[in-house]
Amino acid sequence: MAAANPIRRKLVKTRIIATVGPACEDADTIRKLIVAGVDIFRLNFAHGSHEWLSGILERIREISKELQNPVGVLADLSGPKIRLGEIPGGETVCKEGMLVRFVRERQNDDPTDLTCTYEQLINDVDLGDRILLADGTVALLVTNKAEDGQSVTCLVTDQGTIRSRQGVNLPGVALSTPSVTEKDESDLHWALDNKIDFIGLSFVRSSADIAHLKELITAHNPEVTPLIVAKIEKTEAITDLDAILKITDAVMVARGDLGVEAEISKVPILQKDIIRRCNQARIPVITATQMLDSMTTNDLPTRAEVSDVANAVIDGTDAVMLSGETAIGVHPVTCVRMMQKIVQNAAPFVIGKDRTERQSHESRRANPITEAMTLGATIVANDLNADLIVIATSSGRTALALSHARGKVPILAVTHREDTVRKLCIYWGVTGIQSKLVRQSADALLQYVVQWGLENSVLKSGNKIVVVGHTNWIGSGHDLMMVHVVP
Ligand code: PEP
Repeated sequence: MAAANPIRRKLVKTRIIATVGPACEDADTIRKLIVAGVDIFRLNFAHGSHEWLSGILERIREISKELQNPVGVLADLSGPKIRLGEIPGGETVCKEGMLVRFVRERQNDDPTDLTCTYEQLINDVDLGDRILLADGTVALLVTNKAEDGQSVTCLVTDQGTIRSRQGVNLPGVALSTPSVTEKDESDLHWALDNKIDFIGLSFVRSSADIAHLKELITAHNPEVTPLIVAKIEKTEAITDLDAILKITDAVMVARGDLGVEAEISKVPILQKDIIRRCNQARIPVITATQMLDSMTTNDLPTRAEVSDVANAVIDGTDAVMLSGETAIGVHPVTCVRMMQKIVQNAAPFVIGKDRTERQSHESRRANPITEAMTLGATIVANDLNADLIVIATSSGRTALALSHARGKVPILAVTHREDTVRKLCIYWGVTGIQSKLVRQSADALLQYVVQWGLENSVLKSGNKIVVVGHTNWIGSGHDLMMVHVVP
């Protein structure tokens, strides 16, 4: 019999990711965030020591266990993020037409001499390249490279004030640095040693970056298999997206840096295109950054932000992500509650995928029998106006097949594996529960699920459940479908 839950689980559709930071790191807020609907917590390695993150991870895992509500954790590696060095006096006012210099090492207190965290910048840029500073608000054009190779001179083309440690973007410049930096490798080892569920890689340029990350993971510990999230924020990654989708496990539309690297006005179209292609390839996709940005300081989001979240859901995003809103915002919990309301209201407008749209790369497909059975289950459940589809899953691949059908009926995935139940947290429409009974028989599974559903008030007498399960009649694949009416 299922143990009574301290809180009632709800059946989910679009997943919510919350970035952890000083505003929500305490146990009480983490608990409230899980109850409000957070599926995955993001640890951003751009900020915070391993020691600090270890404490947060421990609290997340403890509270998730106590609430019997599995949540995933995403370790977001910073990648080759470039930042300005210290500016004497803290800032430089860049006026259009003025010249500034990038120098290898600061020799004086001139605030128009700039340093940065990327040593190769001076080598990598060419005459005519653009350098964007401070979230793209200030633009420079490279006009001269010193013969001694120690500096480059740039003309300010878009003016503004730049401050120490602000971001530097080099759109279209072929960087000679690897996508996984030394710091990333150390962060990756921490993440693998702590059995983190999802590893995000920033500033991915090509599928080779993901292949390299996978090699590093295997070299450190071949036993752990986190899902890789390719953050799409460079135009090179969009050019190589088809190849990236063949190798990555998930994608994030990282609209912050994407809006700097590509023209900001193109972000909505790029976002729609990335979501569509991820849906076709059966790759879960996260839409990220500034989704409810004004709630970092305000009680309510703007109408435009609410529409942005709802439209991402309707376009087919699997997950929506909060960054500063939960990490440093004044109302992290209110923000997640608001996100939950928006995605719930948008859920009925998510468009189901027909059979051809369910095709995907061979590597993403489940056993052919399972593929056919899950397709059948989606049709049967829709036709019967059923209340729940139940599947048994080991690696999560069956859950992914059902998730990407974008059917109307919520999916309950039962797995015996703790790592899988946490990975399910990224799949649209899939609520995961863990039980060893899944390996016994379809009848035992059904009994357990009905009990769980009644206790959590997600089922009541008269509800119809479509179960896809195993018998031992064939060697592999889900070979049994049954419809059950809750007595
Ligand atoms: C982004 O750039 O949109 C993003 C999600 O990455 P980060 O928050 O690490 O800058």
